[in-house]
Amino acid sequence: TGRDTEGPGGTNGTESASETLFERIIAREIPADIVYETDTTLAFRDISPQASTHVLVVPKARHRTVADLAAADPGLLAEVVATAAKVAELEGLHDGYRIVFNTGPDAGQTVFHVHAHVLGGEQLGHFGR
Ligand code: IMP
Repeated sequence: TGRDTEGPGGTNGTESASETLFERIIAREIPADIVYETDTTLAFRDISPQASTHVLVVPKARHRTVADLAAADPGLLAEVVATAAKVAELEGLHDGYRIVFNTGPDAGQTVFHVHAHVLGGEQLGHFGR
């Protein structure tokens, strides 16, 4: 199931039918409010914010879920988390923030290019439905 650990798409001219919205944002084909970028990651504001600060952090290489990313490239997962921490610093989230990886349909994952939601800027509710 090569699809589970798919390599970079959209940035190397080998876009597949399973390309997601986030490949198009990474390729600058769709506009986004980019807040931070590294060689391997991109951070941009969620179009439908669920907190005062709501930023998405993606690796530029495509992996479907955080579990796939952890298995295929743990160093890149660490870079995603480091970018999330940098975003929190840039956004002034000194009192804390939440990192969420929705994983699979029951969790509400709608875009199958792994992304960390970075949420903060207010007291957040606890987990649940
Ligand atoms: P998921 O539900 O965990 O897969 O998160 C997908 C997120 O992408 C949702 O929070 C959406 O609001 C967000 N989203 C969808 N389209 C765009 C866009 O074009 N720009 C930025 N965020 C988007």
